[in-house]
Amino acid sequence: MEPKYIFVTGGVTSSLGKGIICSSLGLLLATRGLRVTIQKLDPYINVDPGTMNPYEHGEVYVTEDGAETDLDLGHYERFLGIPTSQVNNVTTGRIYYDVITKERQGAYLGQTVQVIPHITDEIKSKVKAIGESGKYDIIIVEIGGTVGDIEGLPYIEAMRQLRYDVGKLNTLSVHLTLVPYLKAAGELKTKPTQHSVKTIYELGLQPDILVCRAELPLDQSIRRKIAQFCNVDNEDVIASLDAKSIYEVPLLMKKEGLDKRVIKKLHIRAGKPELTNWIRFVHAVTYPDYQIRIALVGKYVDHQDAYLSIVESFKQAGAVNNCEVDIVWVSSDHLCEDNVAEQLGGVSGILVAPGFGGRGINGKLSAVTFAREKGIPFLGICLGMQCAVIEFARNVCGLADANSTEFESETGNPIVDLMLEQKTIEDKGGTMRLGSYNCTITAGSVTEKAYGETKIRERHRHRYEINNRFRDQLEENGMRVTGVNPERDLVEIVEVTGHPWYVGVQFHPELKSTVQKPHPLFVSFVEAAYKYASERDQVRTLIPADQKTLV
Ligand code: GLN
Repeated sequence: MEPKYIFVTGGVTSSLGKGIICSSLGLLLATRGLRVTIQKLDPYINVDPGTMNPYEHGEVYVTEDGAETDLDLGHYERFLGIPTSQVNNVTTGRIYYDVITKERQGAYLGQTVQVIPHITDEIKSKVKAIGESGKYDIIIVEIGGTVGDIEGLPYIEAMRQLRYDVGKLNTLSVHLTLVPYLKAAGELKTKPTQHSVKTIYELGLQPDILVCRAELPLDQSIRRKIAQFCNVDNEDVIASLDAKSIYEVPLLMKKEGLDKRVIKKLHIRAGKPELTNWIRFVHAVTYPDYQIRIALVGKYVDHQDAYLSIVESFKQAGAVNNCEVDIVWVSSDHLCEDNVAEQLGGVSGILVAPGFGGRGINGKLSAVTFAREKGIPFLGICLGMQCAVIEFARNVCGLADANSTEFESETGNPIVDLMLEQKTIEDKGGTMRLGSYNCTITAGSVTEKAYGETKIRERHRHRYEINNRFRDQLEENGMRVTGVNPERDLVEIVEVTGHPWYVGVQFHPELKSTVQKPHPLFVSFVEAAYKYASERDQVRTLIPADQKTLV
C-alpha cells in the first residue's frame, strides 16, 4: 500500500491537545494492524528545543538516535510503543538551516532562494522522506501552533501542495478546534470553529474531519451546524470531551468513530482495533486500589511539563503496582537541611530530578541525605544521580569539598567532571552526550533484579560524568557502581549497599517507559516505595471495588 499522510492542524487556541489526538489516532490505527508513525512540525526558529529552557518548552525529549525533540514525541512513543527518531521532529530552524547550507554549497544553481518553493519543498521532502522509507503505511503529521499564525504559513502551504503531489486519496486533513461553552448564554458556540475553518480554507487546505474539543457533549443540532458551515459530513464532526486521563482519549476517539472515518476516507483496508490491553491499562490508571506519595525534587515544580516523562512513567509503573503515585512536588530552591524532615517526612519515595546549573543543588543534596539516612526508596536521575554521588562523597567518604565542576570549576575534589570529549566543545546546541548507549549491569544488584537482565541500552543527555578517579573510594565506603558503559568505562548506575532501594542513574529511564512496557526501574521503585509505605501505614486505600465502573 502507498503511504498515506494525515495532516493534523489546530485552530482557535493552543493547548487543545493536538499531540494526544495524534497519538490516540495513531494508536487506534496501529492496533488495526497498520504501521504508523507521527511527525511533528514545529514552527519556531530554534534548530531543536535542546537550547530552550523548561519554562519555554517543557521537557526536551531525547530519541534513541540522540535527537533533542519536542515533548509530543514522548506521547507518540508512550502511546504507540515504537521509537521515534530525528526525522520525527522538524523545526523551521532546521528547515532554514538545511536550505541555507545548500545555498552556500551552490546547490540552487544561481536561483533566488525563496519561501516558496525552496522552504516549502524542503518541508515536503522531510515529510515525504518518512513515507518513502517504506517503513510505514500511515504518517500522521502534526503541525505545531495554531492556524493563522504567520510562522505556520509555509507548513500549511507545503501540506496543500503535498495533497497534489501524492494524490488526494493518499492524504487527509484533520483539524482540531474548540467549541467553547458560554456560561452566560448557556450554549456551546460554533463560531470560533467556523472562523478557524474559514482561515484554513483561505490557505487552501480543506479539513476532512473536525475534532472539536468541548466541555459538554455536542448534540446532533450542534454537529449538524458545524458540518454545514464547515463543509464536512455530520459523521466527520468528532467530539473530544475532557477525559479523566490522556490515556482514555483513544477510547473516546474510538467511540466517536475517528479511526473508522479515517480508514473510510483513505480507502484503507484494515483489521478491527484490538484494545483489550489498553482498556485494562486505562482501568488500572483510573481506578487504582491504593495510593502512595512520592516526592519529586526539582527546580521546575511550578512548571510540571518540565518533568512530563517522569510523571507519565509514574502513572505506568503505578498501574503495574495497582497504586496511584501521588507526586509531592518539592522545590529544590526552598529545600534545606532545616526543613527537609518537614517537607519530605510523610513520603514513601524520593526522586531527585535531572537538571542543569547550580541553582537548587543544596536542596537536592538535603533530599539525598534524607533518603539515604532514613532508608527511603530513592531514585536519582542524571543530575539527581550526580547529586547522590556528591552527597555520598561529602558525608560518607569525608570529602567535604567534593563537587561537580558544573557548579564549582575549581573544586579540590571534582567527583563529577566534564566528560573528556566535552572539554573542547563550545557550541551549546546538540553537543551533549545524547541518545542511546550500552550499559552492563552487575549481577545481583537492585538494578539487575529490576531489569531482569544485565545488558541494557538507555538514553542520555549530559555533559558531566562521575569521575573514575574516585570510584574506588566510593566503593570502599559502600556506594557500588552497578552499571557501566562497557565501551568507555563510564559510570552509569550507582547503588548504596545496605539501603533497601537506592539507585542513581546517569541515563533517563523515563524516556523509555511506555504503556505497553512500563520501565522496569520505575516499576521496581514504585514497588519499593509501596513496600516502604505499607510498613509505615502510609498507604491510602482508594475506591472500594464495588464502586468502580469500567470505562
Ligand atoms: N547537568 C548535568 C550534566 O550535564 C546533568 C544533566 C541532566 O540531568 N540531564 O551532566
